[in-house]
Amino acid sequence: MEETRKGMLLVVSGASGTGKGTLVSRLLKEDPSFVFSVSATTRAPREGEVDGVHYHFLTEAQYDELLAKDAFLEHATVHANRYGTLKEEVYSRMEQGQNVLLDIDTQGAFNVMAAAPDCVSVFILPPSYAELKRRLEGRNTERPEDIERRFANARQEIPLMDRYQYIIVNDDLDAAYAQLRAITLAEKQRSNRYFPVVPEA
Ligand code: 5GP
Repeated sequence: MEETRKGMLLVVSGASGTGKGTLVSRLLKEDPSFVFSVSATTRAPREGEVDGVHYHFLTEAQYDELLAKDAFLEHATVHANRYGTLKEEVYSRMEQGQNVLLDIDTQGAFNVMAAAPDCVSVFILPPSYAELKRRLEGRNTERPEDIERRFANARQEIPLMDRYQYIIVNDDLDAAYAQLRAITLAEKQRSNRYFPVVPEA
């Protein structure tokens, strides 16, 4: 059947250590209609992170230049580093019918919700604060003060969950992923995004 689709803007937030990254990577791998919006950041790359794939890693001066050019759809300072969603990562792809996934913090998410009210928003929760702390400490990629900052940030962000359309508790990765998949499958079929043409024969 002939059909056209309008791209979905999927905003996913959740504290570091909730398994958000794993859920997002799995969705991108299993559903090629989704593309990841690579954010700009002034944070230093972690081991294994690739410039242009995980983030566009920028100097403060490069980031300021983009800000001055109005290149960001939203931007925020998170854990003392600057992060921003680039307009060019989002709009052209949505026009082509691709679904664009943003992995951004709550400040950025609220700005996107205001600018793009038809976005789909999902908040990922840890099963408990104790488990979140364990996961953060187990990562071994962060300094103790960074772990503390990320944990404190989670305590601030989690009470904002009701401003998102959907909430997923990541207690069991497969179950959490099944919920994310169900949300995206249903949202793709909304009549404001999906336009099939019924043939005569
Ligand atoms: P991390 O340093 O662990 O990669 O990310 C830290 C936080 O910054 C996460 O909550 C992540 O979702 C958020 N983040 C990443 N990119 C962006 C962005 O472009 N804008 C905003 N507002 N937050 C972002």
